Amino acid sequence: MCLKNVPGTNPPQEERMVISMEIFLYIFTCITVFMFGGCLGSFFNVILLRVPEKKDFVKTRSHCPECKHTLKWYELVPVFSYIIQHGRCRKCMTRIKARYLLMELFCGGGCLWVFMALEFFRPHQTIIGLLLFPVLVALSAEDIVKTEIPYWCSITIASLGIIATVLSLFLPSDVLWYEHLIGMLLISVPFAVFCYLGAMGGGDVQLVAAAGLLLGWAIVPSVLIGMVTGGIFGVIVKITKKRATICFGPFLAFGIAAGYLYGYRIIQMYSSLMG
Ligand SMILES: [Zn+2]
Repeated sequence: MCLKNVPGTNPPQEERMVISMEIFLYIFTCITVFMFGGCLGSFFNVILLRVPEKKDFVKTRSHCPECKHTLKWYELVPVFSYIIQHGRCRKCMTRIKARYLLMELFCGGGCLWVFMALEFFRPHQTIIGLLLFPVLVALSAEDIVKTEIPYWCSITIASLGIIATVLSLFLPSDVLWYEHLIGMLLISVPFAVFCYLGAMGGGDVQLVAAAGLLLGWAIVPSVLIGMVTGGIFGVIVKITKKRATICFGPFLAFGIAAGYLYGYRIIQMYSSLMG
């Protein structure tokens, strides 16, 4: 008697195989997505460090700033190379800045967050998210270090916004084409007034306009999340370190990230609560 086909007697081996395969594929995709984000983080680090020094960041290969040793491919694997080399150059043993590791970790983690939240339900939204999150990490890093949001970050987000607006004409999307345009003006116009009055930096206005174009109505919860988290942090800093100002960029970036993934759900929840 063949037990294989008798229901209830033999565990469905084929089904188990399919489940194992699905788990393997999911983990493999998670690792690939993390590495993709890590590579972008590594690249953005090079841009942020070389552009102010007017150095080429495309043709010049990655090298140790101390001994000029050109890095091999296995010294450029995001996160892992840093850990394996104990954060030092393999040639001269000079310490590599922790900033490299942090950028790769945050960009990889950001991309992983996008994939886990959206998977590939609407592939174009996931791909745009995978490009958006590392840019948000890069602008946060630069705002923390230099208290300014790089121009190219807002331009990149605006470009993603234009792509999303065009795609919304052809593909199913949470945001309609005209909502992208409303999003661009909704918060950036009042922010521009604050900027004119000197209460806000011009970089924040550009970022909010660019992110609004990408997010549509979801820019509202994004900015609120940024303001609330930034406000709480600001109060803590004022009490503990007696410092008056904090950079708003990282909080705004966090709000935009959360708004991109959950903005419309937050708006729906708010609408249903309000009846
Ligand atoms: Zn070196």
